[in-house]
Amino acid sequence: MSDVRPKRLADYGLSSERVLMTGKGPGVFEQEVERLEERLLLTTLEKAVAWSQARSMWPDTFGLACCAIEMMSIVSARYDIARFGMEAFRASPRQADLLIVSGRVAHKMAAPLRQIYDQMLEPKWVIAMGACASSGGMFNNYAVLQGVDRIVPVDIHVPGCPPRPEALMEGIVRLHEKVLAGVPPAYEIRRVAS
Ligand code: SF4
Repeated sequence: MSDVRPKRLADYGLSSERVLMTGKGPGVFEQEVERLEERLLLTTLEKAVAWSQARSMWPDTFGLACCAIEMMSIVSARYDIARFGMEAFRASPRQADLLIVSGRVAHKMAAPLRQIYDQMLEPKWVIAMGACASSGGMFNNYAVLQGVDRIVPVDIHVPGCPPRPEALMEGIVRLHEKVLAGVPPAYEIRRVAS
């Protein structure tokens, strides 16, 4: 009786870790490749675009009143808006896609504000920061616009007088969530509704 044993692959000179240790699970590299396939190949183009939009929103350099001081501080090391890829406040509305309306809007300022909004390319988003931008706040008079949503579509309202920078950051995070969830910008919703 001949002793015929099936040859193992290692006997043919194959000596990778995988072949030699058959009981071992997939290596770290193989696991990473598997996860990469899951994340890259099974995503949709819309999701990839939404992810890149949420991670590179550039705010316009625009401040109106006391709220603007709180807004400015979000670029400081303490709040570090750079972690969202948003530290580049743009001096031109043509390079910005986020308008943070920080402060009361006088009627005189309404036209320039709308012009700045119109010059921003789509997709674009608006945050009404503070009580004044959202509703006129304490300035219930003929000189102040009673809510910036009368002239531009607003995506996020941040309450407070003034809202702390943490509150604005919360608003920004909520806006990112909306973008990632595929919620269209406010102007598109308004277009459909009208
Ligand atoms: S909400 Fe308060 S802090 Fe902000 S602009 Fe109005 S008065 Fe100033």
